[in-house]
Amino acid sequence: MRLIIKYEHLFIILEKAKDSRIEICGFLLGKQKDGDVIVEEVIFTKNKLNSSTAFEIDPLEIVKVLDYADEKGLEPVGIFHSHLCGPIPSERDIKGMKLWRNVWLIVDNKGNYGAFILEDEKVKKVHVEVIQS
Ligand SMILES: [Zn+2]
Repeated sequence: MRLIIKYEHLFIILEKAKDSRIEICGFLLGKQKDGDVIVEEVIFTKNKLNSSTAFEIDPLEIVKVLDYADEKGLEPVGIFHSHLCGPIPSERDIKGMKLWRNVWLIVDNKGNYGAFILEDEKVKKVHVEVIQS
């Protein structure tokens, strides 16, 4: 499985993460094809916790994003958020991954990124393929 994302989409997430003192977060909308996850749109949401070590998305905002995705014929293929230290899932993230079993893209504020998915209750790394748009 690969996470295929356009350079401009990854760039905008990395730039926001660099400029933020709290964790940034949002959804990756797109499609699944031949086992790959293809990102077509990036939707930023608010970090309800306003925290530098955790994030949470308001359920009402999640509903709005899911409705929007539905209208556009896209699926919520991933969740992204930032860390102020390295892009490795925290214990809290792993709990979240049990609820949202899609790809989790984690970036840090230095331009590093990684993607992960929970498979058989274990965190697995997902290859990120950055494509030019
Ligand atoms: Zn995290």
